[in-house]
Amino acid sequence: MPADRVMPTSESADLIALTRQLVSKELAPLVDTHEANETFPRETFRLLGEAGLLSLPYPEPYGGGAQPYEVYLQVLEEIATVWASVGVGVSVHALSCFALAEFGTPQQRDQWLPEMLGGDRLGAYCLSEPQAGSDPAGMRARAVRQGDEYVLNGVKAWTTHGGQADLYTVMARTDEGRNGISCFLVPAETPGLESDPPERKMGLTASHTTAIRLTDVRIPVSRRLGAEGEGLRIALKGLDSGRLGIAAVATGLAQAALDAAVGYAQQRETFGRAIIEHQALSFLLADMAAAVEVSRATYLSAARRRDLGLPFTQQASIAKLVATDNAMRVTTDAVQVLGGVGYTRDFPLERYMREAKVMQIFEGTNQIQRMVIGRSLGAKTHIHIAGGT
Ligand SMILES: Cc1cc2nc3c(=O)[nH]c(=O)nc-3n(C[C@H](O)[C@H](O)[C@H](O)COP(=O)(O)OP(=O)(O)OC[C@H]3O[C@@H](n4cnc5c(N)ncnc54)[C@H](O)[C@@H]3O)c2cc1C
Repeated sequence: MPADRVMPTSESADLIALTRQLVSKELAPLVDTHEANETFPRETFRLLGEAGLLSLPYPEPYGGGAQPYEVYLQVLEEIATVWASVGVGVSVHALSCFALAEFGTPQQRDQWLPEMLGGDRLGAYCLSEPQAGSDPAGMRARAVRQGDEYVLNGVKAWTTHGGQADLYTVMARTDEGRNGISCFLVPAETPGLESDPPERKMGLTASHTTAIRLTDVRIPVSRRLGAEGEGLRIALKGLDSGRLGIAAVATGLAQAALDAAVGYAQQRETFGRAIIEHQALSFLLADMAAAVEVSRATYLSAARRRDLGLPFTQQASIAKLVATDNAMRVTTDAVQVLGGVGYTRDFPLERYMREAKVMQIFEGTNQIQRMVIGRSLGAKTHIHIAGGT
């Protein structure tokens, strides 16, 4: 049973209903084939773009839906409930638009944002490198200024939509140190930009992830986003919102696993009763349902802070940590509820479990989320309760 949502407006409730219709009619029939054949569903992103589902949290003048994050994330969760690879793709596309939307000049935004938000130009986000994942400040890719151009060299790793994207948001060094990183928007057709073949992954196989090789890639200075040296700040600020996206995707995946497990437990019988009537199993399902609700409440609470313009870095890390750990547990327990068949590829549960694992790794591993949370706790002034020890 799909999540019973409380939406802030009737318009946003209609948007959820539209999304459910579209994903069950247009996406659900494609999932198994693309995941089994490891093919990238480019047309699906075009369709989502035409439906306005790639531009929800962005301003109307650029073709955006001007929706609060509280609404965008629930739409994203609905997409991920049917197809996690596409859910991740929509979230990464939004992340790749972030730098342009927040740090681009009005000219840059006018020129490139509408085509990205409309789905004509798919984005990718290139921060990680083979030797610098959790520690992006350790990146080595270089951007050397030569007159009115930058020349980029280096290797970016783990690029979602690698080899499929039309525009790459690339972080590269223009100088030494943490403040020596800058951000660039590089068209895929630029000479010297090459993609490796897709990584052979445990899951999310319809979402292509590749290394991107930059060899004397020449781009005009007008393709730098923000000032020189602002790249890491732009990247990390984008990840605050990106982590909310991953929290919503993980919650959608867990909702799908819960729905499948409950459906199965209502009709599968042992000892003459539906297994859902066996207390030990209904308690397992109860814990799974509680975990999904807690994940959704946690990302919505962080989203509302973002919508109010309040700082939300700590809350975004908590939401990513809670929702992705819960998704791993709920998808694992869902396989358990189905017993032997849960372990076969005849049911989607084993795929959900494989897909959930990477959500604890990308957009900052969950160890890194704890580091972010711990640091922000350390930075806060504590309130002393009178009489306490
Ligand atoms: C499918 C997929 C898609 C991805 N998409 C993108 C993308 O589109 N763009 C992009 O830029 N990146 C992307 N990534 C990269 C992802 O963000 C990194 O894999 C992640 O940040 C971890 O970096 P790493 O793999 O280098 O692991 P490492 O940084 O080498 O970490 C290895 C282990 O050490 C732990 N660790 C590291 N440092 C610490 C510390 N200080 N304290 C405690 N534990 C620590 C980590 O938590 C992890 O468990 C993707 C990765 C995958 C798998």
